[in-house]
Amino acid sequence: MTVSTILAGKSRDVFTLPPHRTLHEAVRVLAEKKIGAIMITGADGSIKGILSERDIVVALSKSGAGVLDEPVSSHMTAKVVHCDENHRVTEVMAMMTNGRFRHMPVVKDERLVGIISIGDVVKHRIAETEAESRSLRDYIQMAS
Ligand code: AMP
Repeated sequence: MTVSTILAGKSRDVFTLPPHRTLHEAVRVLAEKKIGAIMITGADGSIKGILSERDIVVALSKSGAGVLDEPVSSHMTAKVVHCDENHRVTEVMAMMTNGRFRHMPVVKDERLVGIISIGDVVKHRIAETEAESRSLRDYIQMAS
């Protein structure tokens, strides 16, 4: 199963903010859209970074509530790991586990075409594993 299968079953909306916007604005978007991370993009749509709820918690714990007036660019992760639609879900799962993050942007022709979370990956892996065990059971029943 590839990333394109996951994207086919969910909205391809990717919520973005420019780097100069504040953490406060990022918090508002995360809460309103019920998401855990937001992509930080330039005016041309290029990826500048990713800001997750984890980054906001770390910033708040280090600096207190005043940090919410600072730009997202000061707290985002600039080196973003991304995948494309042809990546296998198992590969993406390994990339997320090794990198210890839960969000993976999907890029096509250098443009963002979606974002998948560890929740999406686990859901599809469970469905895939169940389908495999069902067909194995059917095969054993047919053969016996
Ligand atoms: P998360 O587990 O996604 O909430 O993120 C944990 C940390 O990893 C945060 O510092 C994020 O900015 C960072 N992060 C999240 N997704 C990615 C990604 N795809 N590439 C690089 N860093 C990421």
